[in-house]
Amino acid sequence: MELLRASGIRRTYGSLQVLKGIDLEVKKGEVVAIVGPSGAGKSTFLHILGTLDRPEQGEVFIDGINVFTQKDKDLARFRNEKIGFIFQFHNLLAEFTALENVCMPGYINGNVNEKDIQARAKELLELLGLGGRMDHLPSELSGGEQQRVAVARALLNKPAIVLADEPSGNLDSHNALDLHQLFFKLRDETGQTFIIVTHNEELAEMADRRLVMQDGLMIQHSV
Ligand code: ADP
Ligand code: MG
Repeated sequence: MELLRASGIRRTYGSLQVLKGIDLEVKKGEVVAIVGPSGAGKSTFLHILGTLDRPEQGEVFIDGINVFTQKDKDLARFRNEKIGFIFQFHNLLAEFTALENVCMPGYINGNVNEKDIQARAKELLELLGLGGRMDHLPSELSGGEQQRVAVARALLNKPAIVLADEPSGNLDSHNALDLHQLFFKLRDETGQTFIIVTHNEELAEMADRRLVMQDGLMIQHSV
């Protein structure tokens, strides 16, 4: 079953054509890795798939919804419910503890039970080896710990699709492997779909598909 379909995605910054017409279809439960040189447009493409940026041309369907034709308010709700985004630079809120950062997406759409959110956030932090770090501020955590908090935050709302931009870029090899294995475990247990931009070849090889982006185009579609 198709979960995501992007077609003819184009994006320019000023006179720079960053995405030159990209198509991508991803099935439910797939783990797709996107590799490619710096400046290829990988982050730009992932932000568009995550509805954090809009293409000048092209369409994105997620779970059968034409995402960019929704009203802003509906798009924001859709994004919070369906999409988990793990940023290259974790973007944690500095004033809030690890636990509070992870709980944040739970509050956005309302109708929530505070206790359930906290319980789920704690469970995720434990799973990511941060059980003893929940009450720390981001500044009191190592880079790798901050990144894992950002992973927990992205998973809080059990998104159908997780988009990750170099999620293991600042983890040591041990923590990177743990994180990659968690992605596959979640996929197996929950049927979640993952699209991961990475420089980690080990992860790219483990993925169901390894795609290569270069110069604003998807130049290689299979392993
Ligand atoms: P990658 O993630 O593959 O390294 P990016 O998507 O970050 O590539 O960037 C692709 C190109 O777009 C680069 O040349 C980058 O400088 C440019 N770019 C990205 N974001 C912006 C922006 N907000 N404004 C102007 N240029 C940008
Ligand atoms: Mg990038």
